[in-house]
Amino acid sequence: MACAKAKWRISLHGGHSGEFCEHAEGSLREILEAACAAGYYVFGVAEHMPRVEPQFLYPRERAMGWTVETLERNFERYAHTVRQLAQEFAERLIVLCGFEIEVVPTDRYATLVRHYRQQYGFDYVVGSVHFLHGAALDGYSERPLAEVLDALGSMEAVAVEYYQRVAEMAQAVRPEVIGHLDLVRLTATRLGMAEQVATARVRQAVEQALEAIRAVDARVEVNTSALRKGLDQPYPADWIVQMGARMGIKFCIGDDSHRPAQVGFGLEAAREHLLRNGVREVHFLTREGDAIVPAVAPLE
Ligand SMILES: [Zn+2]
Ligand SMILES: [Zn+2]
Repeated sequence: MACAKAKWRISLHGGHSGEFCEHAEGSLREILEAACAAGYYVFGVAEHMPRVEPQFLYPRERAMGWTVETLERNFERYAHTVRQLAQEFAERLIVLCGFEIEVVPTDRYATLVRHYRQQYGFDYVVGSVHFLHGAALDGYSERPLAEVLDALGSMEAVAVEYYQRVAEMAQAVRPEVIGHLDLVRLTATRLGMAEQVATARVRQAVEQALEAIRAVDARVEVNTSALRKGLDQPYPADWIVQMGARMGIKFCIGDDSHRPAQVGFGLEAAREHLLRNGVREVHFLTREGDAIVPAVAPLE
């Protein structure tokens, strides 16, 4: 039964599945079976929100003949399926129904997030910044980030602007969870410029982003997908967790799984990452009857 599991064993970001997402594998049912097997107490599913303009389609989606309408249809199917499965699994696992947002198109994403949230009655939202000037930080987009790097002049400038977008997004959307806060470290590391995303200027931008996050009472996730992608620490890095801990930021955990085998990956590492950097508890959401309520559990 769910109640026998350690309550810190939660993930509020993950459960992307091949049923609805072109860069994921397996069915959502298989993902939830894996979440039961991984001993999760709460597992939040947060499939990607549709990108509603064709220039933001990923090259692979285009190659598969997908359009923005395909993304819309997949998302609608997702919204119904996750709700159904959450009920079906209720005796074994607390499943939350959420989605991971996009910050494109820049002039109307906040309205779109509100619209999807209301239309499908989602439990919560993961606020992520994947795009900067039309280029994806994780390498999925048509436009390469190298172009943005050229235009802005340095990786430090890219990072500062990225964290400004995070702060704006937190204010505009008020998400319950902030996804992979230092995603820009992935890009910078791949380009051999990791030191440029931890300079004094960048630290100041991170502090401002954390202030915006605290002001809307969002939880920052420790996201273990960074370890899968070859980084030496989960998102966010040690110094950011330490800064957040000093500022009283709330932290949660997310495995950002994109296939059943990734469910539960790095959960123990996430716990150690938080404890090592001065965080003693995880903040999350849970279901009580029909209500979604905040919860907290000790990590020790
Ligand atoms: Zn994804
Ligand atoms: Zn993401």
